[in-house]
Amino acid sequence: MAGSTDFDLYRPSEEHEMLREAVRALAEAKIAPFAAEVDERARFPQEALEALVANDLHAVHVPEVYGGAGADALATVVVIEEVARVCASSSLIPAVNKLGSLPVMLSGSEELKRRYLGPLARGEGLFSYCLSEPEAGSDAAGMRTRAVRDGDFWVLDGVKRWITNAGVSEYYTVMAVTDPDKRSKGISAFVVEKSDEGVSFGAPERKLGIKGSPTREVYLDGVRIPADRMIGAEGTGFATAMRTLDHTRITIAAQALGIAQGALDYAKGYVRERKQFGKPVGDFQGVQFMLADMGMKLEAARQLTYAAAARSERVSRGSGKEDLTFFGAAAKCFASDAAMEITTDAVQLLGGYGYTRDYPLERMMRDAKITQIYEGTNQVQRIVMARNLP
Ligand SMILES: Cc1cc2nc3c(=O)[nH]c(=O)nc-3n(C[C@H](O)[C@H](O)[C@H](O)COP(=O)(O)OP(=O)(O)OC[C@H]3O[C@@H](n4cnc5c(N)ncnc54)[C@H](O)[C@@H]3O)c2cc1C
Repeated sequence: MAGSTDFDLYRPSEEHEMLREAVRALAEAKIAPFAAEVDERARFPQEALEALVANDLHAVHVPEVYGGAGADALATVVVIEEVARVCASSSLIPAVNKLGSLPVMLSGSEELKRRYLGPLARGEGLFSYCLSEPEAGSDAAGMRTRAVRDGDFWVLDGVKRWITNAGVSEYYTVMAVTDPDKRSKGISAFVVEKSDEGVSFGAPERKLGIKGSPTREVYLDGVRIPADRMIGAEGTGFATAMRTLDHTRITIAAQALGIAQGALDYAKGYVRERKQFGKPVGDFQGVQFMLADMGMKLEAARQLTYAAAARSERVSRGSGKEDLTFFGAAAKCFASDAAMEITTDAVQLLGGYGYTRDYPLERMMRDAKITQIYEGTNQVQRIVMARNLP
């Protein structure tokens, strides 16, 4: 797996491009055929999970030392981008596996890494990330889920909301309050397992898009876990959660890029075939200008995302400048806004047909919307950028 690029003067290497070709071929053959039905029935994309696991693409970010593929940050982006190009719901498998497990990779003990990253890499269990709560969204530090020490155990009580892949995942990184007087510095992170007594799940949310990705509440009712399941030191959970997002917002940007690329590719093909006024609609300058703008916005978003991925990789290798926070937020915000515009224009280019479920573009437009909302809304990204201007 790609891993030795010069990340100072960054551009995708030949290895990254070979990876892209391989993932595109797999996604078109094994994931695309189910995308419309997965959306229509709001069902988990099991075929995608099996294809990704069989090809070691479900959690590519896990280092080789823990049995993973050892993909660098850009290779991870490329995988998510290519899966999202055909099915945004399926792209949440590699994306959320990184989101859920990165706190362990960034702050966990060696013992925790060995215990959880191996099964993740082998496809034995997916990993979810539990930060949000019903009353604590943008202001995540206002969470109420409590963890109370009891000898060699912690006991967790509370409700986590909007948890992607909840119920499907085996492992959950859960942020909980261990000292209510210290707000964000009184929050700690834990690994909770689906089979732990007291863990249960709410009904799947009925969503506008990414309907194949289950989003559910996670209920923690007196969940008693060994003290060594704490990720890092007590009180560092919120900092770990935010450091995680610096890296993983880039994977949401990748998802946005993939959705937008899928929409542009489809619209480009359509306008060549569709004839009005005796010629293909793609011959009209008004249509060409729209395609030009879509391509321009997509490429600008891609360059910013890859620049952010280079920073993510440098920081992971311990050699980065600390402008990752700005770049991660900027890539997510810019790419998701671009994806919303591009998918909306792609629907427009198909005219009335774009507005129907017989074509994939309305699905792509609905799927694009979530990239402006999760891992922090785009208003929140702008707050993060303003506080971390390079
Ligand atoms: C499908 C889906 C999947 C998700 N997956 C996960 C997951 O796996 N794990 C997880 O922990 N969370 C997850 N989330 C939660 C997601 O990150 C939150 O929904 C998001 O952070 C916004 O929180 P909220 O919905 O409570 O909105 P609110 O915080 O209530 O915001 C409402 C509005 O107010 C705006 N706003 C809030 N504060 C400010 C401010 N200071 N300045 C300007 N505007 C502001 C927001 O931008 C938004 O427009 C998911 C959400 C969805 C919908």
